[in-house]
Amino acid sequence: MNILFYNDSQDQLFHISPRQRRVALAVALIMAFLTLAALFFAGTKLPVMSAFFPVLGAWGVMGDVLTSFILFNQFRSSRIFPLLLLACTFLLTGILSLFYLLSLTGMLPLSGLFASGSQTAVWLWCFWHSCFPLGILLFMGSLHFNKKIIDRRLLPRYLFSGTTAVLLIGVLLLALATAGQDKLPVLIEDGNYRRLIETAVGPAIWALCALASVCSVFPYKKRGVLRVWLSVAVFAFLLGVTLSLAAGERYTLGWYGARIDSLIASTVVLLSIISEVNKLFVRLRRQHEELEESQQALESANEQLKELSGIDSLTRIANRRKFDEVLKQELNAPQRAKEHLSLLMIDIDFFKAYNDHYGHLGGDMVLRSVAPRLEAEALAHFGFTARYGGEEFAIILPGHSELEAEQIAELMLESVRSLAIPHQYSDVSDQITISIGGCTLRPGEKSNAHDFIGRADEALYRAKHEGRARFVFANSARDSCLHPFETTSH
Ligand code: GH3
Ligand code: MG
Ligand code: MG
Repeated sequence: MNILFYNDSQDQLFHISPRQRRVALAVALIMAFLTLAALFFAGTKLPVMSAFFPVLGAWGVMGDVLTSFILFNQFRSSRIFPLLLLACTFLLTGILSLFYLLSLTGMLPLSGLFASGSQTAVWLWCFWHSCFPLGILLFMGSLHFNKKIIDRRLLPRYLFSGTTAVLLIGVLLLALATAGQDKLPVLIEDGNYRRLIETAVGPAIWALCALASVCSVFPYKKRGVLRVWLSVAVFAFLLGVTLSLAAGERYTLGWYGARIDSLIASTVVLLSIISEVNKLFVRLRRQHEELEESQQALESANEQLKELSGIDSLTRIANRRKFDEVLKQELNAPQRAKEHLSLLMIDIDFFKAYNDHYGHLGGDMVLRSVAPRLEAEALAHFGFTARYGGEEFAIILPGHSELEAEQIAELMLESVRSLAIPHQYSDVSDQITISIGGCTLRPGEKSNAHDFIGRADEALYRAKHEGRARFVFANSARDSCLHPFETTSH
C-alpha cells in the first residue's frame, strides 16, 4: 500500500496530525486573505520586472516536474492507478507551464510549426490552467472507482502509456497554441486579456478550478497527508486564476500575485512529500536503534535464561550456579553420615598463553573439547561436572573415597591428554594439560561449601606450584601425583 496515498484510518505511518491539518488550513486561509486583499488592487500597474517571471516560472516548472517524478515512483512502488493519474497531471502541468514560460520570455521561435504569436502565451496559460484541475478531478474520480492494485508485470506498460500520453497532449496543445492559434478565439488584445472573460473561456477555467478545489476537500476527515496538501495546492491554483482574471493585464499586482499563487500550488505538494520522507527517515533510524536495543536485551535475557537453566552456554555442561546447588545438596544429604564425598577442582595449564597464541576462539574450542571429556569420566563414576568459571571445572564425586577420587583424577589427566590438543607455548608439555586439586570429606565429616572448595582450591594451587599436569589432594600425606606421561624436567 502506498504510504502517502492512504488516509489516517488506513495508515498510521503517514497519519496526518491535527497540527499538520491546522497548518494546512492556516496556509490556505492566509493565501485566501492575501489574494482577497490583492483583488481590490488587482489591476494596479506595477513596474515590469523582467527577471521576475523567468525565475519564478523556472521554479514552478521544477516543482511540478519533481513532484511528478516522486509520484511516478510512488506509483511504481504502490501500483495504485490514481497515483499514475496524479503523476501525469503534475508532469503535464510542468510541461505546459514550461511552454508558457518559453512563450512569455520570447524563447519560442517566431517562425516554423511551433512559432509563437500574440495569442500563444494566453492560450498556453488556458491549457495549463484547465489541465491541472481536470487532472485533479480525474484523480479524485479514480480514487472512488479504481481501487485495485495493478499487476506488477503491467507496470512498464502503464508508465509508458502515461508518459507518452502526457507528452502527446503537451505537444498537441503547444501546436494548437502556436500553429493553430488562428483557429482559436482571440483572447488578448493590446496586452489586455479582458476578452478572456468575455469569451467565457476564463470563467470556465475558473469554474473548473473551483470544482476541483471543492472536490479535493471531501471527504474532509478521511484525507491523508498527500490529499490535504493537494487540496491546498488546488486552492492556491484557484486563487491564482481568480487574481489573473481580475488583473486583466500582465505586470499588474494581480498578475504578479497569480504567479506567486501558482508557485505555491506547484511546490506545496512537493514540500509535504519531502517533509514526510524526512520524517520517515528519522523514524526508520529510531526504529533501527530500537531494534538493535531490543536484540541486545533479547540476547542478555537469553543468557540469563541459560544461567537460570543451569547450563553453561559455551561448554553445554552445568554452570557455576548449578554446581553451588548440587554441592549444597550433597553436603546436606542424609548419606553423608555414611559416605565419603570428594571434590575435584580442575584448571587448564597455561591457558592464557594458549589464548594469546591460538586466539580466543581457539581457546573456546579447547574448553568445548575438554568439558565433555571430564563430564564423561565423572559420569562413569556417578559424579557431577560443572564449569566453575573461566577455564576451571569442578567435579563432585559422592560416595568416593580419597583413593578412588585420585584414581578418577588420574583418568581425567589421561583423558585430557589423549585429546592431544597441541599447545606449543605450555611450559610443561607440548599439548593441553590440566592440573587437579582434590579434597575428600570422610563419612560424617562436617564442612560447608566455602571451606570444602577452599581446600580443593588450595590443593590445586599446590598442583600448579609443584609443576602442573598433575593432581594433589588436600588431605593426602602423599606427594603430589604426577601423571605417568609427564616428566619433571618440564
Ligand atoms: P595456569 O597454568 O597457572 O592456570 O595459567 P593460565 O594461563 O591458565 O592461568 P590464568 O588464570 O592466568 O589464565 C586463565 C585464562 O583463561 C585467562 C582467560 O583469558 C582465559 N579464559 C577464561 N575464560 C575463557 C573463555 O571462556 N574462553 C577462552 N578462550 N578463554 C578464557
Ligand atoms: Mg585459572
Ligand atoms: Mg589455568
